[in-house]
Amino acid sequence: MTHNPIRPWRNIERRKSRQIHVGSVPVGGDAPISVQTMTNTVTTDIKGTIAQVTAAAEAGADIVRVSVPDEASAKALKEIVRESPVPIVADIHFHFRRGIEAAEAGAACLRINPGNIGDEKRVREVIAAARDHGCSMRIGVNAGSLEKHLLEKYGEPCPEAMVESGLEHIRILEDNDFHEFKISVKASDVFLAAAAYQQLAEATDAPIHLGITEAGGLTSGTIKSAIGMGNLLWMGIGDTIRVSLSADPVEEVKVGYEILKSLGLRHRGVNIISCPSCARQGFDVIKTVEALETRLEHIKTPMSLSIIGCVVNGPGEALMTDVGFTGGGAGSGMVYLAGKASHKMSNDQMIDHIVEEVEKRAATIEAEAQAAE
Ligand code: SF4
Repeated sequence: MTHNPIRPWRNIERRKSRQIHVGSVPVGGDAPISVQTMTNTVTTDIKGTIAQVTAAAEAGADIVRVSVPDEASAKALKEIVRESPVPIVADIHFHFRRGIEAAEAGAACLRINPGNIGDEKRVREVIAAARDHGCSMRIGVNAGSLEKHLLEKYGEPCPEAMVESGLEHIRILEDNDFHEFKISVKASDVFLAAAAYQQLAEATDAPIHLGITEAGGLTSGTIKSAIGMGNLLWMGIGDTIRVSLSADPVEEVKVGYEILKSLGLRHRGVNIISCPSCARQGFDVIKTVEALETRLEHIKTPMSLSIIGCVVNGPGEALMTDVGFTGGGAGSGMVYLAGKASHKMSNDQMIDHIVEEVEKRAATIEAEAQAAE
């Protein structure tokens, strides 16, 4: 997927996993790494939940998870699924009946741990409901809620205990001839999560859902997620990701994409390369980048834009981007198109002009892609 014969140091060899489906979204195998988020509305607030799902989907979420804590939420789920532009995963804890109701309501996937929902009969009923309704499952092991017998065996949450928990849940599904599942072994501790995921990747070929759970607020959680998930993705581990932040789900989606973009694993929208600015800047780089980030949110086409304050690094960066602007002094700068110096533009008109140039370039890339199909 990221094979780069010219720059082999950029290659990431993805772990070979089998492919499952979450509704229309393939997960695992050679499918693009999907980006997920989760709503934080009360699920019975159907309008509010649909609005949040839609906003997340517009930001690029491929899949959205919704909590189903009670029967009323399972009822609400039906309408949410109907209105959602992306597949919905129902988050179920412990209660087998919620799992059945969610599958019947049209959930594309159940996040449920089969070992935690009661006796074999109940497990079989949930699996039958999932099978009947074309619903996949995600086993979600969490360091904070490991089974008692594993805590007693290992003394504390550790990678071995987490993987053993995951494999026990896997065995239950496989014994029931159910193979449409993915699995996560999340922890809020980066070291614990990374070690658990590495061991899990060796122990199963099931697709892996990656996450650093309860990562924190927007800044700290983004850094923690980028370090933890970034390292794993770099090793080729991870088929779908969810960044967990104490923030708007839209932010989780944006951060998820930024992590994937940084590793060249997935591209969406404009990747802005900009300098931190200093006394040499020929225009206000920080304000310009802030304005462009907002003005270019509507662009979905993968492309790059360099916004560099002066000629120290500007021309070099512009060589490698679709559109570039380099500050030059005397109130204007140089616009670069497809890596070549094109024309001068005054600083006070450059934001509108760059937006236009990016839109034009995006249209060209789309047209070329269509012609190639
Ligand atoms: S590119 Fe120029 S303006 Fe930007 S940080 Fe470097 S020297 Fe400063």
